[in-house]
Amino acid sequence: MQETTTVSFHTLGCKLNYAESAQLQQQFTADGCSIVEFDSPADVVVVNTCTVTEQANTECRKIVRRALRTSPNAKVIVTGCYAQLKPEEILEIPGVSAVVGTADKMRISELLFAATPGSINSSQLELNGGNAVKPLSTSTRFTGATSADAETRTRTFFKLQDGCDYTCTFCTIPQARGPARAILFADIAPAMEKLALQGVPEVVLTGVNVGEYLGENGERFVDVVRLINSMQLPFRVRISSIEPNTLTKEVIDEVAASDVFVPHVHVPLQSGSAEILKNMRRRYNPQMYRNTVDMVHAAMPQAGFGIDVIVGFPGETDALFEETVQFLNSIQFSYLHVFTYSERDNTPAAAMSDVVPVHVRRERTRRLRAISDVARNRFALSNLGTIRNVIPEQFIARYNAWSGYTENYVKVLVPLPENSTLKNVDVELLSIEGEYVLCRVVE
Ligand code: SF4
Repeated sequence: MQETTTVSFHTLGCKLNYAESAQLQQQFTADGCSIVEFDSPADVVVVNTCTVTEQANTECRKIVRRALRTSPNAKVIVTGCYAQLKPEEILEIPGVSAVVGTADKMRISELLFAATPGSINSSQLELNGGNAVKPLSTSTRFTGATSADAETRTRTFFKLQDGCDYTCTFCTIPQARGPARAILFADIAPAMEKLALQGVPEVVLTGVNVGEYLGENGERFVDVVRLINSMQLPFRVRISSIEPNTLTKEVIDEVAASDVFVPHVHVPLQSGSAEILKNMRRRYNPQMYRNTVDMVHAAMPQAGFGIDVIVGFPGETDALFEETVQFLNSIQFSYLHVFTYSERDNTPAAAMSDVVPVHVRRERTRRLRAISDVARNRFALSNLGTIRNVIPEQFIARYNAWSGYTENYVKVLVPLPENSTLKNVDVELLSIEGEYVLCRVVE
């Protein structure tokens, strides 16, 4: 009898990659394979890469080498955004079997088992008996993906949209993932019903630029929110990240009035300087961003508000960086994700002058991370004494409690036994303990 082919995965980068890896795992399982831990030897290893920074590229190469050490005889297949943009860098690593671009990413299992399902001996991914690169064109077709609980036992990433038509000067995502496209509007309700039947407690609407959702009959993102609101779903719904110019008052009001959407948004700012935003070719200025922040808090006073910022973009003088600091000090938010700018090949920003020295970028990153810590703490304090709903995600032995997030994205510890199977619990937020807020369960 033929032995079961074992497959391991490693995923880097964004939620979209995680959703897609989970979908690939389901395809491999359907083809009769068994999925094993990344650090166990496997017959096939899939590394789903990211290229958001130079550091992400380095990390991807490290992971590929680790895969080759763990599984020296495996077919190591590298896909994702880094594979799409820099296949030659990956093929320099001896032992890599195939580099698969984004157009074929969701077909890896199909290509691997083209001749005989479950057998990797006659794979289309072993052209010329050596390394193979599947055509690295980006796709214009939408391929759905849902992580039915790949990372935690609680959160499901639902791919609503892919690609981007914007031209932000620092970004390679449109090159790596191709133009904007989205799931058919008619397919959303059935997909939500399926997730409801699976009993998932939280769904995160994920995409590269979800706010630019465009359905087959011209439906926009607000229509998606309305549709989901009309369904009375048994799980909560979160929007992963949304561009400020697409987070309109209509969308905010729909989310605020909703029983399923949580009061939490994550909105990239990138810079608080009008000049830098213009050079980044972002579609808003600081005043417009401020209006968005104000609209969110007017509609949802206790909303969690996360912000992405890039520091060290070319031309960011000390004075312009201080504009970002002052801007952040003048708006209400609950945490920052700070990215140190790194030059990406074939982007307009990489050719810009007035490059900021790397040590200055790092210092600015440290300063903003300190501002983020203060904001996080302030937001946690403002939530003490409130009753919130939490999905227990992971048992932390040293605290003898479960960690999880409230609807408005406060990280909490819930005192429940390790064998608890509760999917949902109401808690009162009591006090701050390091990165967590300690809670008591409300009966
Ligand atoms: S909106 Fe800008 S930063 Fe975001 S994916 Fe599109 S081009 Fe990149």
